[in-house]
Amino acid sequence: MEVAAYLTEKAHSVSVVEVEETPFRRFLGERVGRALMKMFENNRVKFYMQTEVSELRAQEGKVGPPPLPSIPALLGPVLPGAVPATGFLRQSGISLDSRGFIPVNKMMQTSIPGVFAAGDAVTFPLAWRNNRRVNIPHWQMAHAQGRVAAQNMLAQEAEISTVPYLWTAMFGKSLRYAGYGDGFDDVIIQGDLDELKFVAFYTKGDEVISVASMNYDPIVSKVAEVLASGRTIRKREVETGDMSWLTGKGS
Ligand SMILES: Cc1cc2nc3c(=O)[nH]c(=O)nc-3n(C[C@H](O)[C@H](O)[C@H](O)COP(=O)(O)OP(=O)(O)OC[C@H]3O[C@@H](n4cnc5c(N)ncnc54)[C@H](O)[C@@H]3O)c2cc1C
Repeated sequence: MEVAAYLTEKAHSVSVVEVEETPFRRFLGERVGRALMKMFENNRVKFYMQTEVSELRAQEGKVGPPPLPSIPALLGPVLPGAVPATGFLRQSGISLDSRGFIPVNKMMQTSIPGVFAAGDAVTFPLAWRNNRRVNIPHWQMAHAQGRVAAQNMLAQEAEISTVPYLWTAMFGKSLRYAGYGDGFDDVIIQGDLDELKFVAFYTKGDEVISVASMNYDPIVSKVAEVLASGRTIRKREVETGDMSWLTGKGS
């Protein structure tokens, strides 16, 4: 989606072909996904939703997955997800999982003592979610992991304990996100989705596991700070709409 947003500044028209019903649905939920989809549509992006790409056919300057070979295209990036480029490690003795990721421990050490790895290519135990083994392909996480790996290479005995945090910008609007929302079962939204001025709390059971916002600073950073302190945020605390306990400002 970031590529699509960028291309609107360069291309005559931009089309997104997507297997899901709503973009960002699994990551941000149905309602936030729809609001962002509208933002893209308002910026001339055309969506072909619930369309699975199994092949691309070019015809008279147009390209598309059958039965839609009708999207004008000079450039057709295909972005079906990322896989780690770790094939060159297969003979090295460093363990890889079935998807090619490099499992590391809290010190970012691979299966070989003294050999460390960090970034998009690793899975690691997420301390803040009961050491669940995860892959988090974001800039902040790669940075934090690289730091921990370097400290351990210098025998400083550091462990990765950061709360995942990311921001991205599309059409001049910043989306911020903190936590690890995989498996959320409810979304509590405060603010105005139509105005793209909102905060969305993702909950699992009684617990807030992640948060996303647009034009609602400094909520996401504050939530990240609270989660990093080890405190659990309960669903009822974010349902009222009064965020003064979080931001330190009177309501
Ligand atoms: C389109 C796009 C948009 C993104 N937007 C955001 C965003 O808004 N916010 C955010 O937080 N994150 C974003 N990310 C993710 C972010 O870029 C990554 O999480 C981050 O770059 C990971 O850093 P890394 O060092 O692990 O890997 P990389 O940055 O991918 O660096 C790995 C480097 O290793 C090199 N390499 C690979 N194989 C070999 C080899 N065999 N020998 C030598 N060199 C090799 C590669 O060429 C590359 O330069 C985005 C990613 C993409 C693709």
